[in-house]
Formats: sequence, C-alpha cells, structure tokens
Amino acid sequence: MDSTTNEAAPRVALITGGGSGIGRATALRLAAAGMCVVVADIDAAGAEATVLALREAGGTGLARRTDVTRSDQVDALIAAAVAAFGRLDCAFNNAGIQEEHGRLLDCAEDVFDRTMAVNVKGVWSCMRAQIRQMLAQGGGGGAIVNTASVAGLRGAPSMAAYAASKHAVVGLTKTAAAEYANKGIRINAVCPGVIRTPMYERIAAADPRTAAIAQRMHPIGRIGEADEVAATVEWLFSDAASFVLGQTIAVDGGFTAS
Ligand code: NAD
Repeated sequence: MDSTTNEAAPRVALITGGGSGIGRATALRLAAAGMCVVVADIDAAGAEATVLALREAGGTGLARRTDVTRSDQVDALIAAAVAAFGRLDCAFNNAGIQEEHGRLLDCAEDVFDRTMAVNVKGVWSCMRAQIRQMLAQGGGGGAIVNTASVAGLRGAPSMAAYAASKHAVVGLTKTAAAEYANKGIRINAVCPGVIRTPMYERIAAADPRTAAIAQRMHPIGRIGEADEVAATVEWLFSDAASFVLGQTIAVDGGFTAS
C-alpha cells in the first residue's frame, strides 16, 4: 500500500472578511497549518492578496468575491468551496463593519441598517449555508467560529449599532451551538478587544485620542495583534477544543476582566 494512502485529507476552511486584518491573519495561519483555505471578501483585491500571500508561503487557497449580506452570493460561495476542495470542515464568519463615531442620537439610519446587514444577517446567512453543507456531506460535523467583539459582551459608548450587532452575533452563536451540537458541529464566538487592523486604523484616524484610550482599556497595557485572534480561532477549530461549544471567548488583554 502506498504510504500516503492513510494520510488524512487536508481540512477545508472558509473565512469571510479574509481580505484584511483578523481574517487575513487567520487565513495565513490556517494555511500554514496545512488547511485548504477559501478566502471570501467583498473586496476582491484584498481576498486575492491574501491568497497570493498564503500560496507564497506554501499554502493552498482560493479567493472568492462575496458580499455576505447577499444570501445568493453566500450560497454560491459554499458551492465554490465544495467544488474546489470537496467539502467544508471549518468556517470563520468574520466579515464585519464599524462605521459609527457618535452617540445613539447621531447614528444615521442607513449606518444602522448596514451594520445589521453585514454583522448580523451576514453571520446568520453564512451559518445557514455552512451548517446545511456540513449536515449534507456527512463525515463528522464541523466547526464554526463567529467574530463578535467585547462590544458583544458589554455596552460600547459611541458604537450603539455595532454593540447591538455584536450582541446579536453572540445570540446567534449560542443558539446555533445548542441546536447543532448533537450533529457534531461545534459553534463558538471570539470576542476581540481592540486589535491593530485596518478597521482600528480607520477609527484611530477619526479620533486622535483613540490610541491612548485603547491602550488604557486593556490591563495588559497594549492593544492586540490580528494573529493573537487567529491563534484562538485555530485552537477552536482543533480537536483540542472538542468539548468547547456555544462559548464567547474574549481575546482582549483583560479588557472584560477589569
Ligand atoms: P478589517 O476592516 O481590517 O477587515 C474586515 C473585512 O471584512 C474587510 O476585508 C472588508 O472588506 C470585509 N467586509 C466588509 N463588509 C463585507 C461584506 N458585506 N461581505 C464580505 N466582506 C466584507 O477589520 P478587522 O479589524 O479585521 O475586523 C474583522 C472582524 O473583527 C469584524 O467582524 C470586526 O467587527 C471584528 N472586531 C474587530 C476589532 C478590532 O479592534 N479590529 C475588535 C473586535 C471585533
């Protein structure tokens, strides 16, 4: 018998918002660990750049432009992932936006609607398509991680719509985890503190006090790096987390502990 015959096939992971920040760092980490990675983003160039980077490091990946607010595009994304790699084992629903800079009375209606569409409907729509695929393909379920935020665990002054959307991600995560646990699908959420990504840089550019405030909010004395969230996602996808589901894992330098 060929010695490669018994080797397990590489696991297949899908990442939304994979063209930047936390999503890109996670794509690079999972590809380095040997997974086939499907990188989805509304920003096609960002997704392509991530896949180029992971291929240059010896990994396998596929870029796919997808708007997570469009369930037809989400369904087509899952179909493309399965067409390319045969199955779907892990999914990181990470695409998200934060556009507010002011109190609740200052939040425009279109900003509120867009925040809910991307951050909440997008996660719901992605999980729906992913769970359908995981149930249909058989072979032991799967693992899903959604990106919430510390703003999904407590209030976030000047970001009411964002905080509402991330609390909703926590609710979706816990409910879906309970519903599909007995099908072998583990669903969790990561709740990052402030992480150095293009999203953070945009917020910091809008308010020059951001860097000092952000640093003070974290007992560890600094903001986080995208790869520190990626490492937690990798662990949640692994068998080491086999009894962990329905959890909101804060990756926050002690932010929610203080
Ligand atoms: P980022 O802006 O660097 O990356 C987000 C990515 O999502 C971008 O590539 C963007 O094009 C993509 N995206 C936006 N709308 C989309 C849509 N409709 N369909 C598909 N892709 C879309 O931000 P980031 O900091 O890496 O954020 C990633 C996730 O982490 C978000 O859900 C964010 O809310 C969350 N988060 C970030 C921080 C932080 O401090 N950076 C803290 C807590 C939570």
